[in-house]
Amino acid sequence: MPSSPTATISIPDLRAAIHGRVIAPEDADYDEARTVMSGAIDRRPAVIVRVADVADVQHVIGVARDSGTELAVRSGGHSAAGHCVTDGGIVLDLRDLKALEIDVPGRTAWAEAGLTAAEYTAATAVHGLATGFGDTGSVGLGGITLGGGVGYLGRKYGLTIDSLLAADVVTADGELLRADAEHHPDLFWAIRGGGGNFGVATRFKYRLHDVPSTVGGMLILPATAETVAGFIAAAEAAPDELSTIANVMPCPPMPFVPEEQHGKVVIFALMTYAGESDAGERAMAPFRALAAPIADLLKTQPYPDMYPPDDDSYHPTAVSRTMFVDVIDLGVASTIMEYLDASDAAMRVAQLRVLGGAISRVPADETAYAHRTSRIMINVAAFYEGPDDQLVREAWVAEFSAALLQDDQGAYVNFIGDEGEARIHAAYPGSTWDRLRVIKGRYDPTNLFRLNQNIPPSADTR
Ligand SMILES: Cc1cc2nc3c(=O)[nH]c(=O)nc-3n(C[C@H](O)[C@H](O)[C@H](O)COP(=O)(O)OP(=O)(O)OC[C@H]3O[C@@H](n4cnc5c(N)ncnc54)[C@H](O)[C@@H]3O)c2cc1C
Repeated sequence: MPSSPTATISIPDLRAAIHGRVIAPEDADYDEARTVMSGAIDRRPAVIVRVADVADVQHVIGVARDSGTELAVRSGGHSAAGHCVTDGGIVLDLRDLKALEIDVPGRTAWAEAGLTAAEYTAATAVHGLATGFGDTGSVGLGGITLGGGVGYLGRKYGLTIDSLLAADVVTADGELLRADAEHHPDLFWAIRGGGGNFGVATRFKYRLHDVPSTVGGMLILPATAETVAGFIAAAEAAPDELSTIANVMPCPPMPFVPEEQHGKVVIFALMTYAGESDAGERAMAPFRALAAPIADLLKTQPYPDMYPPDDDSYHPTAVSRTMFVDVIDLGVASTIMEYLDASDAAMRVAQLRVLGGAISRVPADETAYAHRTSRIMINVAAFYEGPDDQLVREAWVAEFSAALLQDDQGAYVNFIGDEGEARIHAAYPGSTWDRLRVIKGRYDPTNLFRLNQNIPPSADTR
């Protein structure tokens, strides 16, 4: 639904007040500025404000609040639901906020929310230090951090939020708050998993970990029910230093892959061992032993090499479903292979992430990410071309994910699309939901920040 009261926004007034850039529909770079990662999202905001500082953030929040205009908040623009852009409203775009202060002796960094995971990781790696984000370098620190952050350092150092020490947040009333263990601990709890519901995070303070080098990269194995189940068993048995992402999918036509493998369903694994080389090689051995690798690019490498340059022109249209499961045994692996073999989508995937390790050692109620005991995350996805194909792929994803469903009914908020309230509840089960609603009521009682996986404010904020 387009946001209605746009007439009350004066672009000249905004231009006079804002230190950053104000981009209106008639501007040459409007189309580029409103483009987001997902190719399925095509929205036309009344204005995009690329903020330059905290004062700009406060001003934009004030304009949206006072005019009643829908507000979208954007950092890296990777929201699958397209929450970072609005039809007819204001986009508060943080992508130019890229300051980074690294305290090497203190092992911490203050990072502005417009940095991407790759930018942050490249800068901290100069000092042999890292904070874990996700599997893709172009994801913004803003969105991934506020939702949780599941990535290559997860089993060793936990989620991104487990390394979050503080954040500066501008709330709906325009106030800049420091949220940490001592200041506004309720807000600090909520922003560690609760997404953009509570305000605009302008910068984050992260703990840095010693990651001078890693053993990691890509391992491509033939996919059969046996290798898929074997991969999961090996990943679960691996030391915490090793985090894996197994994409079971058609093999891309990469130059180092024999042509006869192109398009065949393979295990396309991305692996990181955060530790010294010999131990890392030993940890990789069980995976290499599963089958003769189609490609083995695992090696001792700097951690930022896990983030090869992204292609800015890549805007896929995809349907997906995220879930957690307890077990991927031979039976479940057979189901995975059956569905992938039965589809003819050019790109289709079951992405399998074994969790555990440091992620599971945090109590479930310590942050708003409550799925600490969930064992394996599965993301099922298919790309589509056009509306007819979309229906076919949606049906496949729905059937496939239903066939995989086990006891764990949770969902990771950062991988949910526009899927309705029940799925937001799945991200925030039980008392997490109630607690988030109370904190939302305290910091955003009118639900100004609603273009997100929305938590309705509670009227009772005690
Ligand atoms: C290709 C791809 C790979 C991914 N891989 C992973 C992965 O490995 N692990 C993982 O955990 N996630 C992963 N994700 C999911 C990703 O973490 C979420 O989509 C995340 O929300 C993206 O953050 P962003 O800043 O890029 O997105 P945006 O679209 O800019 O932001 C998403 C939403 O977060 C909120 N938000 C963003 N920044 C702020 C801020 N500074 N203050 C307040 N609210 C804010 C807003 O509600 C916004 O609409 C992946 C997504 C994609 C597209």
